[in-house]
Amino acid sequence: MPKELNRSELLEIANSTHSKANCPQCGSLSCVGWETVPGSFDLSCLKPIGTLRIEGAPECWEEDHPDGTNLWSENAPISIQFHPYNRSDVYECKECGSKYLRYTEYGGYYIDERIRALDPKLIS
Ligand SMILES: [Zn+2]
Repeated sequence: MPKELNRSELLEIANSTHSKANCPQCGSLSCVGWETVPGSFDLSCLKPIGTLRIEGAPECWEEDHPDGTNLWSENAPISIQFHPYNRSDVYECKECGSKYLRYTEYGGYYIDERIRALDPKLIS
């Protein structure tokens, strides 16, 4: 089981990120907001370092958008008690140390792997 992270631990991880400029592994990712992981992207360059899924926490499908953002907004807050952050795991690029959030969207007939860069300024 990956380590369960609280807000301050997540902030610390987010703030420990260095520049991903010119990273050959994850530099192609463009995911300021949530994006579907491109089929061409090699997920094995990311290693899990923790999770925001808290064992035994009540299910919450509500999203947090106090400023009129939506799930896909580049400036949507990262509110860890809310969907989809409460179902996300935290990953780090093995090459450059960039941090990402990932979760899997299970639709009726599809599975969508989604990824978003972890920006400390957006953690609410
Ligand atoms: Zn990288």
